[in-house]
Amino acid sequence: MRRPGGRSRLTVYGGIEAGGSKWECAIGTGPDDLRATTTLPTTTPPETIDRAVAFFEREGPVDAIGIGSFGPLDGNRASPTWGYITTTPKPGWAQTDVGSEIGRRLAVPVAFDTDVNAAALGEHRWGATQGLDTSCYITVGTGIGGGGMVEGKLMHGLMHPEFGHMRIPHDRDADPFPGICPYHGDCWEGLASGRAIESRWGKQSAELADDVAWDLEAQYLGLGLVSVICVLSPERVVLGGGVMNRPGLLELVQREIVRLMNGYLAGPVLGDGISGFVRAPALGPLAGVLGALALAESA
Ligand code: ZN
Repeated sequence: MRRPGGRSRLTVYGGIEAGGSKWECAIGTGPDDLRATTTLPTTTPPETIDRAVAFFEREGPVDAIGIGSFGPLDGNRASPTWGYITTTPKPGWAQTDVGSEIGRRLAVPVAFDTDVNAAALGEHRWGATQGLDTSCYITVGTGIGGGGMVEGKLMHGLMHPEFGHMRIPHDRDADPFPGICPYHGDCWEGLASGRAIESRWGKQSAELADDVAWDLEAQYLGLGLVSVICVLSPERVVLGGGVMNRPGLLELVQREIVRLMNGYLAGPVLGDGISGFVRAPALGPLAGVLGALALAESA
């Protein structure tokens, strides 16, 4: 959406939400000013990076780029492998330089973080967690990932949060499914991600209609979220990702959280206020790529 007439040359950002199946790229300054966008399939690293660079060369220039990537990744500026996707099981992508390669080819500064931290930042800047100090963004899609902000800053630490690999209670008598995580079997992602749903029920989440299956999904999501809420004390939790597109699932999960808390953290948000406390992204599916634009500001 290029504006007619000569807009003065103000700072313009590029954003990439680098996902395992597609890359969303955008140029602009925010949700009301997206000047160009494209979606690229994630193929090999050289081909995917070439196509992204070509998009920014064609539609730019941009002054800085923010990349919110699937991981795990190295986001430590002081590290020799900063900008790398590291130990991913995704074929061909382990130990791949994404951040410095793109920065070098476009000759712009780059900010590099996880896709979910980018989405958390996007929701904080323009969406559901504006003005809050402490919040989490959790995506339940092909995998489960989480990011968040504490005192208005993205969480990093040892590397970056890996909410999806938390261990949650698993009653093997009730649910003998062993889980699909190649590292842990029945961690949260192993039991409740889109890939877990597909493997357990033989259907993708979009085609799964069985109420029993969705009740189990809501139980597992509730168990993980109760841990997130107890450990981090977020003021709001945003729950995105393709699996959450299932009508009614968010409400089932909210009910499950209230049930599992059992009146212990009884503040208003864990009773009648649960629908505001655990909610869908205000930016919808654009949270990640808009967050990448917000990330670019810090580059
Ligand atoms: Zn795991």
